[in-house]
Amino acid sequence: MRIVLVGPPGVGKGTQSELLTERFGAVPLSSGAIFRSEIEARTDLGEMAKRYIDQGRLVPNGVTIQMMAKRMRSAEVLKHGFILDGFPRTVDQAIALDQMLEDIEQPLDGVVSIEVDAEVVVARLSGRIGCTRCGAIYHKVTKPPKRDWICDQCNSPLFVRDDDQPETIRERLRVFDENTAPVIGHYEELGLVRRIDGDRDPEVVFGDIVRALGL
Ligand code: AMP
Repeated sequence: MRIVLVGPPGVGKGTQSELLTERFGAVPLSSGAIFRSEIEARTDLGEMAKRYIDQGRLVPNGVTIQMMAKRMRSAEVLKHGFILDGFPRTVDQAIALDQMLEDIEQPLDGVVSIEVDAEVVVARLSGRIGCTRCGAIYHKVTKPPKRDWICDQCNSPLFVRDDDQPETIRERLRVFDENTAPVIGHYEELGLVRRIDGDRDPEVVFGDIVRALGL
């Protein structure tokens, strides 16, 4: 399986990536999660990326493409396929991805565009909390963990992302409209896009994605 999940922040890409990984065993590749682990490990790449991420801006294409190209060439990804979440986020990144996949002769099975209204996204991001260790995602109101600030799955502490603050959320949504919405147009031209209504229960959305991809 080789698919791309596209959609504004908070639309549920991470949750759907988790569900697809569980069912189909492809490797989840989230550019945002990779940046966050680089930041946590205090690498040069992490320090640089943090300056952009904290402002809700995109990390420059060059470093992002290089970082993802390295992951895409791993033996595990070549064998099991991938679920890309958060990459590509610009048309230049999409063109670079097309080239990478052509080089390894592994075309995409589909691009899933998950769509919800902007106000729903803001409400979701404003209450989002995540696990520092396993990446599980909760919401203060709609999906609270069983114990406050502790992950149900791995008992690690939960946290609010620095970039889930109201003014950064607004900037990320603006950046999505300006830079990432055109990525959907790029893949429309290649006939790869499946549009999914993301404003429903995650399991229902998942069922739609599975059907839309003919899995
Ligand atoms: P995410 O976890 O996908 O919401 O990503 C968090 C932040 O990481 C984004 O707001 C960007 O600052 C940065 N980021 C993630 N993926 C990319 C990408 N493909 N290109 C540039 N910046 C990215």
